[in-house]
Amino acid sequence: MAVLPIVKYGDPILRTRTEHIADIQTVLPFIDDMFETMYEEAGMGLAANQVGLDMNFAVIDISHTEEDEGPRIVINPEILESTGHYDMEEGCLSIPEIRATIARPEKVHVRYQDEEGTTREEWFDGLLGRVIQHEVDHLNGVFYIDHLTPAKHALIDKRLVEIAETGAPTTGITL
Ligand SMILES: [Zn+2]
Repeated sequence: MAVLPIVKYGDPILRTRTEHIADIQTVLPFIDDMFETMYEEAGMGLAANQVGLDMNFAVIDISHTEEDEGPRIVINPEILESTGHYDMEEGCLSIPEIRATIARPEKVHVRYQDEEGTTREEWFDGLLGRVIQHEVDHLNGVFYIDHLTPAKHALIDKRLVEIAETGAPTTGITL
């Protein structure tokens, strides 16, 4: 297994709508490395394009939090419907030192395939629902900070340029 380098804000692959996975077998060789990378970086989710792979899948593990959920692999995930709204602070391994409170739907109905190729439809809420929405965004080329108001986004613009140029901002910020 190997820890893979995390692709940072500014790399075009993070603005790419990732390629649909037709053959589950193509995902399997990357899964262990994806989990190892996520654990090394203390992330709760990692989308394939965050390690440079143009593939529509993500790994998620929030088992270290109070929500007792095991590790998951979500392949070709799509949000079918959603309800409610709530605020939660988010961060991103591709956008270091920045955190921001974002409003998103409270519950999402997601269709995805698991690592055996079985299509599943499940409702997610709480932290797991939040992480899944963050990862589905990544796989569609979207960042959580895209949901910020223009006024708040302006507060991180300089830092984003620094991340794109050097991999990290000179100072962190929580919005
Ligand atoms: Zn992220």
